[in-house]
Amino acid sequence: MSDKGAWRAATKCIQSGYRPANGEARVLPVFQSTTFRYDSSAAMAALFDLEVPGHMYSRLSNPTVEAVENKIADLEGGVGALCTSSGQAASLFSVLNIASCGQNIVSLANLYGGTTNLFAVTLKQMGIETRFISPSMSDDEIRGAFDENTRLLFGETIANPALDVLDFERFARLAHGMGVPFIVDNTFATPILCRPFEWGVDVVVHSTTKYMDGHGAVVGGVVVDSGNFDWTAGGRYPGLTEPDESYHGIVYTENFGEAAYITKARTHLMRDLGSCPQPMTAFLLNLGLETLHLRMRQHSSNALAVARFLKEHPLVDRVNYPGLEGDKSHGLAQKYLEGGMASGVVSFGVKGGRERAVKFMDSLKLAGLVVHVADARTSVLHPASTTHRQLSDEQLAACGIAPDFVRFSVGIEDPEDILADLEQALGLCGG
Ligand code: PLP
Repeated sequence: MSDKGAWRAATKCIQSGYRPANGEARVLPVFQSTTFRYDSSAAMAALFDLEVPGHMYSRLSNPTVEAVENKIADLEGGVGALCTSSGQAASLFSVLNIASCGQNIVSLANLYGGTTNLFAVTLKQMGIETRFISPSMSDDEIRGAFDENTRLLFGETIANPALDVLDFERFARLAHGMGVPFIVDNTFATPILCRPFEWGVDVVVHSTTKYMDGHGAVVGGVVVDSGNFDWTAGGRYPGLTEPDESYHGIVYTENFGEAAYITKARTHLMRDLGSCPQPMTAFLLNLGLETLHLRMRQHSSNALAVARFLKEHPLVDRVNYPGLEGDKSHGLAQKYLEGGMASGVVSFGVKGGRERAVKFMDSLKLAGLVVHVADARTSVLHPASTTHRQLSDEQLAACGIAPDFVRFSVGIEDPEDILADLEQALGLCGG
């Protein structure tokens, strides 16, 4: 059960999801079991028919995973969540749940490179076309990307790695005006800094691998349903509004009401595609979530100090950080992100191009070179030669990535030590 709305975010991080009864374990137990025992065939049949809640097989649901799902749903203010084995699986599920071969989706182009690849290549191979749009397009141009076969609009709260903040109200209005839901990847902001449902978003996805775990320990993802989108209007979503023959003719919108979307994602997609999380990874994710509210504040204040330092440095060409005064997304960050806090990721260009950017990174001592962002340790990455290397120059430009562009993920170490590391590395690559 979700404790939706009952507590403030910090309390939800600690208390939501798992509420031990008298004499039960204080800390969320790890139900390391693939399956669950029942007394009678009738009890099991009722579970299979989705007549009663309960667990039967850990691909579909598991008590440890369920507790974490309920915590995340509660933090986002949604009606339900489905944890997946990775963020990629969460993004894929969010689309496949309502779009199929012959249909299309519209997406902001400035996305995480893996999502761009998933949409532009793999979904295309599955017969789902992605129409990429840019926030600089006019409303009319954006509307022109939609047609009667469009099933959703997709974007990222703080785009990785361009760090543009999404104008939620504008894109929610456009999506709803075209009769489709708005799905947002809220990975970089987390529900501590932004709750997209409050701005008209219908479904949220996360790579929990990032700040939610926050310790670089477990890969995972989650899909969260606001319960707000009316799937019955417009007749575009028969998978939700007409009998599912693969599930005893169940009609999700009739049987599960506002939880129709998230129930289908579990009973249909998770059943068939099986990208489920493990109980132990859910346990570790839950530990991370318990300190999410503290970490996001520290990441944000450390990153602001880093962005201000870089802005003044003679070897730095330009700095992107939505929390920074004068940044292209500063206004949107002030509007949509809690207290204007913009998480821990800063990107910048080093004067002297790709060669000097690489020399700078190789000179860092505290910050580690890793293919990862958004955990407790400060880390650095050169997207053009790593995460986004599969993209063409045109796609790179659409994602806001130049060859000298460095993505710096500010951890929660003492900010003075992070600044000292930057200073010495920039000093070494200056000559
Ligand atoms: N979304 C964003 C914003 C990401 O940064 C990432 C990974 O870096 C993903 C999705 C994919 O998540 P995962 O690596 O957990 O599959």
